[in-house]
Amino acid sequence: CKRIVVKVGTSTIMYPNGTINLQRLEKLAFVLSDLKNQGKEVILVSSGAVGVGISHLQLTERPKTIPEQQAVASVGQTELMNLYSKFFHSYGQIVGQVLMTRDIIEFPTSRLNAINTFEQLLIKGIIPIVNENDTVAVEELDHLTKFGDNDRLSAIVAEITAADLLIMLSDINGFYNKNPNDEPDAVLFHEVHAITDELYTLAGGKGSSYGTGGMSTKLIAANHILKNSSQMVLANGEDPTIIFDIIEGKEIGTLFS
Ligand code: ADP
Repeated sequence: CKRIVVKVGTSTIMYPNGTINLQRLEKLAFVLSDLKNQGKEVILVSSGAVGVGISHLQLTERPKTIPEQQAVASVGQTELMNLYSKFFHSYGQIVGQVLMTRDIIEFPTSRLNAINTFEQLLIKGIIPIVNENDTVAVEELDHLTKFGDNDRLSAIVAEITAADLLIMLSDINGFYNKNPNDEPDAVLFHEVHAITDELYTLAGGKGSSYGTGGMSTKLIAANHILKNSSQMVLANGEDPTIIFDIIEGKEIGTLFS
């Protein structure tokens, strides 16, 4: 694979107590920087703006109203990019922030602008770090502005950049036949070649308290990837060096191909 999109969920970059997992961020920056040095093109899709904002503002709970959440996300996105920029810089890399809204799906001009931005960043050897534009995209305007979640966003980023592989890092080893957090005898799917209605029923509801999508949005993303004849691996982001193993083709997590 030459061009790789990596998506990390909030649960991967935050500790359960609500503080930032600096080790993870640093390791992620190390791995992606090393892949760049190997000649790969990498794009990072990172969640966590609200989580990091809550932490940075030392709030005791997630704010209730959408405008409050947007304000917190604004602070959190800045702080998150600041951290990424520092860590990537220490490994010799330059990052560029890309904030996206759903209009890139609806409007061809927006889509083309987004494609051109990614191309230029990659040509210049810059690592794009992507998130949804929380200022514009709110739950209420779902159909107009919002991707819904970064799982879907990452699949669309993979599509418009014609990426060879989407690596989705979560707090779980892959896609199981039932939620392993509730049922210890759950069995991991090593490979999935089609997203059927039956699979969606196995995905259950919402995931962790931090994550928003749970498994079902990961399957929606996988479906999008398969439709575009690309590949996606869902794996545990506990140790970001797992990305090296995935790219080497080792059997890790769930491969959607
Ligand atoms: P992230 O923050 O990485 O996006 P989420 O919390 O949104 O992660 O989604 C991952 C969670 O999905 C798992 O921790 C698990 O609780 C839940 N889940 C539900 N059904 C399944 C399943 N069939 N296989 C694996 N995980 C599942």
